[in-house]
Amino acid sequence: MRTIGHVIGGSEVPSRSGRTGPVFDPATGTQRAEVALADVAEVDAAVAVAEAAAAGWRSASLSVRAATMFRLRELLDANRHRLAALVTAEHGKVLSDAAGEVARGLENVEFACGIPHLLKGAHSAGVASGLDVHTTPEPLGVVAGITPFNFPVMVPLWMFANAVACGNAFVLKPSEKDPSASLLLAELVQSAGVPDGVFNVVQGDRLAVDRILEHPAIAAVSFVGSTPVARHVYETATRHGKRVQALGGAKNHMVVLPDADIEAAADSAVSAAYGSAGERCMAISVIVAVGSAADPLVSAIAARISSIVVGPGDDPASQMGPLVTAEHRDRVRSYLGGAEAEGARLVVDGRRAAEGNPGFFLGCSLVDGVRPGMAVYDDEIFGPVLSVVRVARYEDAIGLVNANPYGNGAALFTRDGGAARRFERDVRVGMVGINVAIPVPVGFHSFGGWKASLFGDSAMYGPEGVRFYTRPKVVTSRWPDPATSAIDLGFPPTR
Ligand code: NAD
Repeated sequence: MRTIGHVIGGSEVPSRSGRTGPVFDPATGTQRAEVALADVAEVDAAVAVAEAAAAGWRSASLSVRAATMFRLRELLDANRHRLAALVTAEHGKVLSDAAGEVARGLENVEFACGIPHLLKGAHSAGVASGLDVHTTPEPLGVVAGITPFNFPVMVPLWMFANAVACGNAFVLKPSEKDPSASLLLAELVQSAGVPDGVFNVVQGDRLAVDRILEHPAIAAVSFVGSTPVARHVYETATRHGKRVQALGGAKNHMVVLPDADIEAAADSAVSAAYGSAGERCMAISVIVAVGSAADPLVSAIAARISSIVVGPGDDPASQMGPLVTAEHRDRVRSYLGGAEAEGARLVVDGRRAAEGNPGFFLGCSLVDGVRPGMAVYDDEIFGPVLSVVRVARYEDAIGLVNANPYGNGAALFTRDGGAARRFERDVRVGMVGINVAIPVPVGFHSFGGWKASLFGDSAMYGPEGVRFYTRPKVVTSRWPDPATSAIDLGFPPTR
């Protein structure tokens, strides 16, 4: 059985801890590899190498860092199919979804190519006689990223493209469920000319995470994952004096007003709810159908589900792949029985579609008549289950969305510009879509939810990413005013 190891100082390093975890092919249910699970000594070794490399990398000129990002951009582009194939093999999502993930990750490298412009800082000349002030953003040193299973290429790129371009050394702790893509990322980073030790990968589980959170040489931690772990990461790492951005789970609502284009809304709802088998933090998991929108919308979504092809992610005919593990599939499935028991109506039951398949498959489900207080509404399910909550008025819809403890994304479907403008102002979430079901910001804006979807004060990537991975140094200088200076320069002025 192949063991997926770490990358420390530019070389693949086998596990020394003796601890490993299984990595599955979710489409067949078989184990394809095992992954090393680092102990404290292995984390410490990676951080020591990163610390040594950070000292040199912070002095690399801006043009060298920009050129490195341009080369990385080309290498990622050239290897996008290899990366996507690794994602599909261990996560299970269909190849087109995996390729989309690589493309969205690439945006962050393209943004980081502009690092000389992004780190210009600010200058105030002549704040008083002979006195100038300038601010320069400086790197933090060693920073760490802890990432979830659902985007094993994109989320690391959200973090390390900006972190490295800003002059930091990076230690990535990927999800132990689909670790292989991180090794190819490390290979491409090295080929792009990033010095050894500036980008390191430590495979692991909770043990490695907890060492990262308390390690004195790590200045900042970026985390993406579930809300309970995000809270733990935020509380522990800040207690150890670190800068932290910790993005958590979500329960994203899509409000559909009666005047919306119901067919377009149904198309969007289906791809936003069932794409990547619902294992997206920006997946739509609740439709809030206002007034007369409900009946036609539920019928239109149900009609579309019957034609979704569920199968192995590497089969071009498949539109939805399996879930990541058998345990997760079983947990998602349990919500369907629970919803029925709590009085909701299973319009489409995805359990049957997967019967007898050894892979971790579950079909698409649509649950109508859902209300707050039911587990299917209250919990983040993270699978192909779409709930419908029926409300009478817009005010009820906005009240429902705003009462939810999560605040990642929300969408409104309408033809009414006034309603759209009002929703944009009323809704208390970090990312809003108007006739866009999954409003993931492009790489030159920043990504982040509100409430239980983000701990800390910093969203991820884009301008917020640059701010997070740098700290300002403000220099106040006094020099003799050239107009009154009596300094003899010793040579005649040039003409
Ligand atoms: P997870 O929280 O289980 O794991 C995330 C990371 O934390 C992994 O690297 C894992 O090894 C580590 N980890 C897990 N349990 C831990 C513990 N007890 N102590 C310390 N570290 C621990 O999340 P996941 O299942 O990999 O990913 C799915 C979750 O991530 C969902 O809740 C989803 O909404 C969320 N997510 C959020 C965003 C966002 O931008 N807000 C994006 C993607 C995923």
